Amino acid sequence: MESLWSDNQATAFVEKYAEQGVASDVALRVYSSRLLGTMRQLVLHGGGNVSVKTKVTDLLGREEDVICVKGSGWDMATIEPLGLPAVRLGPIRAISNLDSLSDRDMVNVHRSNLLDSSSPNPSVETLLHAFLPHKFVDHTHANAVLALTDLTDGESICSSLYGERAPLVPYIMPGFSLAKKALEVYRENPDCQGLILLKHGIFSFGDTARESYERMINLVSLAETRLGIGGGEVGRVALPKGLARPAEIAPILRGKCAPLSADGGYRHLIATYRTNEFIKAYVDGKALPRYSQAGPVTPDHVIRTKPKPLIVPPPEAAKLNHWTEEVEKRLASYQTEYRAYFGRHNKRLEEPKIALDPMPRVVLVRGLGLFGFGDSIGAASIAADLAENTISVVSASEQLGKFESISESDVFDVEYWSLEQAKLGRDTALLLAGQVVAITGGAGAIGSATATAFRVKGAEVALLDVDCGEVMKAASRVGGLGLCCDVTKCDQVETAFEHICERYGGLDILVSNAGRAWEGRIGEVADEVLRESFELNFFSHQNVAQSAVRIMRLQGKGGVLLFNASKQAVNPGANFGPYGLPKAATLSLSRQYAVDYGADGIRSNAINADRIRSGLMTADMIASRAKARGVSTGQYMAGNLLRTEVDAKDVANAFVSLALASKTTGAVLTVDGGNIAAALR
Ligand code: ZN
Repeated sequence: MESLWSDNQATAFVEKYAEQGVASDVALRVYSSRLLGTMRQLVLHGGGNVSVKTKVTDLLGREEDVICVKGSGWDMATIEPLGLPAVRLGPIRAISNLDSLSDRDMVNVHRSNLLDSSSPNPSVETLLHAFLPHKFVDHTHANAVLALTDLTDGESICSSLYGERAPLVPYIMPGFSLAKKALEVYRENPDCQGLILLKHGIFSFGDTARESYERMINLVSLAETRLGIGGGEVGRVALPKGLARPAEIAPILRGKCAPLSADGGYRHLIATYRTNEFIKAYVDGKALPRYSQAGPVTPDHVIRTKPKPLIVPPPEAAKLNHWTEEVEKRLASYQTEYRAYFGRHNKRLEEPKIALDPMPRVVLVRGLGLFGFGDSIGAASIAADLAENTISVVSASEQLGKFESISESDVFDVEYWSLEQAKLGRDTALLLAGQVVAITGGAGAIGSATATAFRVKGAEVALLDVDCGEVMKAASRVGGLGLCCDVTKCDQVETAFEHICERYGGLDILVSNAGRAWEGRIGEVADEVLRESFELNFFSHQNVAQSAVRIMRLQGKGGVLLFNASKQAVNPGANFGPYGLPKAATLSLSRQYAVDYGADGIRSNAINADRIRSGLMTADMIASRAKARGVSTGQYMAGNLLRTEVDAKDVANAFVSLALASKTTGAVLTVDGGNIAAALR
């Protein structure tokens, strides 16, 4: 591992932040924190922390000794001075004279000594940083160090590798006791450059930002070199031929692994798929049931990954029913074991905890790869990243010996530690969190507005459109998945839905919105015009609905189909037959799905919108119609009972309302400002 330190860059940081009134100590702390934070083999997703001891002047002009330490919720790769709250050093250091300190008192000591009361909570490892005398202190969960300390004989390997340069600190949960122990070990070895925290990570320190950073790089490099000496192939299990594709099994796993919710329903989770040669070698390893169930590679992963992943057998495409039964069995015993683990450790606590749901957050699929689960694509991706990280640490350990984690009771203490649970900002208030929505015609005005409306409710969105460039832009605007897809082509629809299943695990809501207007007097219109319109305005709805229903039934948790039908379906306009006829068929299609799949909990509803400015209703069309009626375009667009123009947002909100109306199916909702001639009867 090479040092990326650059004096020029360091100076640039100092100069840039000086303009904002930030002292050079803090600017350099930001610089080297980011150097460490961008290396995935050192820290991931908010792991690790850093500090600098410096002086600040308060409002009254008094100079105070402080420690600026990483705040909770900040990531080392993107940290700013605001993410390094200043805490008074004197009172924090005095704490080291105590024999014990509760977590509540520790947080209170941190917060009550902040110079800025609006700062984020200082890291749970603040005391350890403060007790050490060095100006700069760096802490990472470096993979190479973990791979050595997480061996059954990791202690002796690390002890002979690091000697007095970086003495060992036994595993203790982060907090006051660990900080005291680290101080004790440091005092016995006052010339050391760092500390190895067994089964947790590594600290380095120094007088300058560069010294502390480069000591980290050098100490981790020692571990990398030591690992390189190992060898040996991991034995793999034999796999059956003809495995199912990940997209075929994703909805099954997502449906089975959905935790129950408080109201007796279930919570939707996103399930995102990952694979590569390393992941495959790991999940196909003969000893997978041993090394994958041994526990986390560093304790704070447990809040994202649960103590253990679920292992499922290789899915044979021809025997998916049998495979599904096997998954159910394994999931049932996973839950039984999780509840037993909770019960075993909860009963020793003075203040009992409330059990978290017993569902896995990482599923290892033999023959294929892994799925990470979470309340959003962000959370699911973090679980998957940590699983990949676990794979690289455990694989490295297993090259040398046998991987070993902390004890089960230590895992429990971290999983149920209130300070760790506090790191997971809960999004449960969002009504559609964890749900996946596919929107066709996603690049248009209605499609984009619909995507935004669903995102606001917490859902993940995939946008499909034949306009590849525009749909990618629309998707990136809302943080969704853009898919280039002609919905009149079954094979393209199938491919698009495969992508959705690999990225999100399945589908809960379909908004079948793609459409285009064709005109012509019905007695004279060319046959191909009518057929072309039927392809897009009827058959494409059937194509996407069929694919959606297949995925929803695999999940077994219901679903919602929403069709954009248009007022033409009930109130035909002159010369608009080529558009209105397939739309009328689509309205019937919506009802047919309601009838045929109601028993599966799949609801199907439609929207009748009218006069919306969009790709369908171009400015030219609006102008010519207004002219034909002898009114302005504004009067024409607001020519309804409410005398108000209807826009794409109104249609989007109506789709969301129908998605939320959990007891409504077979319905048609008008979004037209009132058009009595289009009222259904
Ligand atoms: Zn740590």
